[in-house]
Amino acid sequence: MIFYPQKVDKSRLERAVDSALAKKQLPPAAYYPTKSGSPGAQEAADAIASGAELIIVAGGDGTIRPVIHVLANHFLSNQKTPSVRPTPSLGIVPLGTGNVLARNLRLPLGNLGRAVAIAVSGKDRPIDVGQVTMTFGGDRPNETHVFGVMAGLGLDAKIFANTNNWLKRRIGWVAYIDGGLRSLPVTFERLAVSVNDQEPRNLKLHSLIVGNCGFLPGNINLMPDARIDDGVLDLAAVGPRRIWNWIEFWNRVTWINWLVKRVVGWRKIMSQTANVKTLENLRGAKVAVSSERAVNIQLDGDPFGQVQMAVFQVLPLAVKVRV
Ligand SMILES: [Mg+2]
Repeated sequence: MIFYPQKVDKSRLERAVDSALAKKQLPPAAYYPTKSGSPGAQEAADAIASGAELIIVAGGDGTIRPVIHVLANHFLSNQKTPSVRPTPSLGIVPLGTGNVLARNLRLPLGNLGRAVAIAVSGKDRPIDVGQVTMTFGGDRPNETHVFGVMAGLGLDAKIFANTNNWLKRRIGWVAYIDGGLRSLPVTFERLAVSVNDQEPRNLKLHSLIVGNCGFLPGNINLMPDARIDDGVLDLAAVGPRRIWNWIEFWNRVTWINWLVKRVVGWRKIMSQTANVKTLENLRGAKVAVSSERAVNIQLDGDPFGQVQMAVFQVLPLAVKVRV
């Protein structure tokens, strides 16, 4: 049981999880709180090493991402060397306001008891995850990470970088929104995008989204064609006409929602939004993106700095989630 301690009371979680386990004649769980600097990956590795068959994560997308990173890599090494113990299943107890992956899987939000019951007694559903190898340039070595929902390059990722600053300083975002996002120094990115090793296509856009899945409830459906178990990644390009859809999308699914509702004028912007369609014909198991100028990148809402190149591939059915 990996949990984000700022978002859930440990004793309440223990009662819910251990009683659900007891009903199935299973022993109590081991509890691993995440810490700053250790948001879930080490905890997941420790749980696997101790022989866990099920890892339940109580948290948002930022806590789930490091755990699916470890689970997917364990699954891959198991495929190469089948002697390793089986990869644990993943149970999700959504906390906070993000939870895009949980929404995609139609898991109950805001109901600890039901979410725990599904995590303990649900069926395993194998899902795809995305993997990206990022080239940062300079002295920073390449990094490979896994994501469950989507990666964003460009303005999208820049918003996340700024959001984190707001978390630290508590005022940045207010000024940002009040000043009007229209006056943002919005810059175009010129990206060369190659799908399945084909001839690269040059795109001029604000943000490029590489999605493993796309469903969201409400009137936003980013990437209507994207499926979480179809073995392909879907691309969405956000250009000038679509920028509001974009901001709306993140507005709805992040914790900043409460703030945005209080800002005059936002409602009007929200009403102008519509669905964002997947960039036609650009979907595949492998996507390589390069940019002459370093471009911001985020994975499931976590900013990773600026990349010169990012090579994405889908890891089909690499994580089993309890649904
Ligand atoms: Mg897909």
